[in-house]
Amino acid sequence: MKTKKTFDVEAWVRPNVRDMQPYSSARDEFHGHASVFLDANENPYNAPYNRYPDPMQWTLKEKISEIKSVPKASIFLGNGSDEPIDLLLRAFCEPGKDSMLTFDPTYGMYQVAAEINNVACKRVKLKEDFQMDMPAMLGAIDETVKLVYLCSPNNPTGNSLNRADVCRLLESFPGIVVVDEAYIDFSAAPSFSRDLSEYPNLVVLQTLSKAWGAAGIRLGMAFASPEIIAVLNKIKYPYNVNQLTQERALELLRHPERMQEQLTQILSERTRLQKSLSALPLVRKLYPTDANFILTDVGNADEVYHKLVEKGIIVRNRNRVTLCSGCLRITVGTKEENDALLAVLKEI
Ligand code: PMP
Repeated sequence: MKTKKTFDVEAWVRPNVRDMQPYSSARDEFHGHASVFLDANENPYNAPYNRYPDPMQWTLKEKISEIKSVPKASIFLGNGSDEPIDLLLRAFCEPGKDSMLTFDPTYGMYQVAAEINNVACKRVKLKEDFQMDMPAMLGAIDETVKLVYLCSPNNPTGNSLNRADVCRLLESFPGIVVVDEAYIDFSAAPSFSRDLSEYPNLVVLQTLSKAWGAAGIRLGMAFASPEIIAVLNKIKYPYNVNQLTQERALELLRHPERMQEQLTQILSERTRLQKSLSALPLVRKLYPTDANFILTDVGNADEVYHKLVEKGIIVRNRNRVTLCSGCLRITVGTKEENDALLAVLKEI
């Protein structure tokens, strides 16, 4: 029988984080009903925004728990998923000593967050099919590696990682494996959030910035064991998710049908854009995608990029990114936006 994987958070968290006393805010200390709040040095006027927001965002977590089928104690909310990306490094990697592992190419913030924290970022090149080179990934793990960052569907390549590869890392790496699923809603692949009870070293990141159409309000989610979530809560800013964001997020999440409608539209435009792009002589290669963007090799990407800019159309030039030479990353827009893009590309 397979023995169930265990993960001792105490053994992996930085000793200073393990031993510190977290800040306790006025809103943390008093629970219950009261009518006079003279505990937080707030201005008594300008309701409701004169008050500090719920530091633990419980109402919002309740809704997210319902939608994502993840228990409340397994949810951390942050200022975009960029916040937990940074907090995980701060919690688990000793600056100047520990390291993290990811692959190349992928979302640039893992490396930037590592560098800000003076944590070495090891990057293993993806294979030509944009899947992980498993012998190289496993070979790059040494005793300094505390975190592995995976992105699936991956930015900028658009593909989902092979599930068996991710599971193999979760099983063989004793530290924390983060699976960033910012684009999961555009994919038919199931979320790893369903596997949290199987893997106590798993952290899944999701966001309201993509399919939910709310990049402007900054709401990121981390799903993990209650023990890992407790570490993130211990080191976060006391009121890391502001009141306006909590309200707007709740309103959005109360209407999943609106998100579904937009998702259907985006996926149908994605298919149309793929067909139209592949018919253009300019397009040398179109990579399959599980996200709301398409990576395409157009040969002279710099030139095409600048011609699009001249017409007021901005795409992401990925020409100088590993394995992406000649490539542009195109986000799927509205029908009108996609038509405008196609019209210019046809003339090049
Ligand atoms: N992860 C990936 C893979 C992304 O591409 C992005 C944004 N481009 C993020 C995370 C950041 O998301 P958020 O807006 O939630 O900070």
